Amino acid sequence: MASAPRALLFGTAGVPFSAEDPSTLAGIERVKALGLDGQEIEFVQGVAMGLDTARKVRERAEALGVRLSVHAPYHINLNSEDPGKRLASQERLLKTARIGEACGATSAVFHAAFYGQDPPEKAYEAVRSGLRTVLSILRRERLGITLRVETMGKRAQFGSLDEVLSLCRDLEGLQPCLDFSHLHAREGKINSYSEFEQVLRKVARKLGPRALRNAHIHIAGIHYGDRGEIKHLNLGETDFRYDEWLQALRDLGVEGMVVCESPNLEADAVMLKRLYRAQGARSV
Ligand SMILES: [Zn+2]
Repeated sequence: MASAPRALLFGTAGVPFSAEDPSTLAGIERVKALGLDGQEIEFVQGVAMGLDTARKVRERAEALGVRLSVHAPYHINLNSEDPGKRLASQERLLKTARIGEACGATSAVFHAAFYGQDPPEKAYEAVRSGLRTVLSILRRERLGITLRVETMGKRAQFGSLDEVLSLCRDLEGLQPCLDFSHLHAREGKINSYSEFEQVLRKVARKLGPRALRNAHIHIAGIHYGDRGEIKHLNLGETDFRYDEWLQALRDLGVEGMVVCESPNLEADAVMLKRLYRAQGARSV
């Protein structure tokens, strides 16, 4: 893949707070000024961006060397019992991918579904079938953007690590978005160097080593309980061992983009990038 990154890049989930205004264009400028590498454009409340703006976004990002991804609307449930809602979910994914491609984004991240009353196996079938349709349409349209199904933090949400990796094996063109905060919150585990390493080795085993050369990762501090994720926090306010996590990413040679979803956005993103670099300097 020509656009595969050769380093681990760091970006924000949405427009940095310190941007001149809350537009995506101002966000791209600010990301660059902060010394960060990328921005995920948040279509989480719906895709309101038009093609004209998308073209401007693409030009600005290319001129500044800022890497973009997009996040699909939260309002997607490929396992809804209502066929109309399943179809609308497919439409939202397609719209995200089309506008994302026009922005020059390389990845489109989405939350696939809720289990509802269904056993996980039944939900899996529904998600796989819906995604198969979406992926075949994207292929027909020759869109170069990669769909990424996210690992989810609430136990009621479809998207354990195993579900996500199985789907990516089953469906050509689908890749994972590895949200490590969600992985941690879902079970209250995965919070040590050896567990981070195990997750990454599993990804490479199931999807091939290339999956770690072009990874897309979400991170934030996280508050969780018996049912998993409760809310995002800044990393320093939580038990998440981000220093060990970064070290594992480095030691396994993970390349791609880390998107920071902490409430303080750019502050944690800059902190992580500095820490990652400092670890690199120490290990030389
Ligand atoms: Zn997400």
